[in-house]
Amino acid sequence: MSVAERARRERALAGAAIVVEGCRKCEIGTSRRNSVYGEGDPCAALMVIGEGPGETEDKLGRPFVGRAGELLDKMLLAIGLPRDDVFIANTVKCRPTLDDGVRLRNRAPLPEEMANCRPFLDQQIEIIAPKAILCLGAPSAKSFLGPKFSITRQRGTWFEGPSGIPLIATFHPAYILRMTGGELNATKRLVWDDLKKVRAKLDEPAVPDNSPAVQPTLFEG
Ligand code: URA
Repeated sequence: MSVAERARRERALAGAAIVVEGCRKCEIGTSRRNSVYGEGDPCAALMVIGEGPGETEDKLGRPFVGRAGELLDKMLLAIGLPRDDVFIANTVKCRPTLDDGVRLRNRAPLPEEMANCRPFLDQQIEIIAPKAILCLGAPSAKSFLGPKFSITRQRGTWFEGPSGIPLIATFHPAYILRMTGGELNATKRLVWDDLKKVRAKLDEPAVPDNSPAVQPTLFEG
């Protein structure tokens, strides 16, 4: 990747993050402390997409920096990817919350909030143009693959994502953190299988897209 192209992407992402910061399309745009645009390498081969920011992410304005983030970092490192080498984003850029009268609790993003935020996510994917996308958890995967997607049956399978980019889903690290004992071990094994598929996809040689399959001049005359 050329220095100029990297700089172009950095500028494009920084500009888009400013637009996100000013967005008030949803109510959560007014209740959140910080928008969480996403972070990482603008030239990343892998884009990781979670559900939405939680309390710690909201406080710091960065994705996956709480306990789930610590586990995500370990998962990525297990396949040789330091956090800084990927780009991490979410389906929504503001923390979805529920006021229970005592405190603000995390909740799943509403379909309308995901739809409002979608252009920002699409734009990130377009700028970064990763080789593969890893969705964490069902809501993230469903936002690309539709409501019928089943995380238990269809995780670990490659699908065609936006712009034809290969997309795969695995369990969300926050879900793994809620498990114990045998269930935890079984889930870890499944996640490890999925992560190995991601590694293998990233290791596939790039297909040159500008060389014609046949050199027509060979057959002329
Ligand atoms: N969970 C998510 O889905 N995203 C974050 O950024 C943090 C936790």
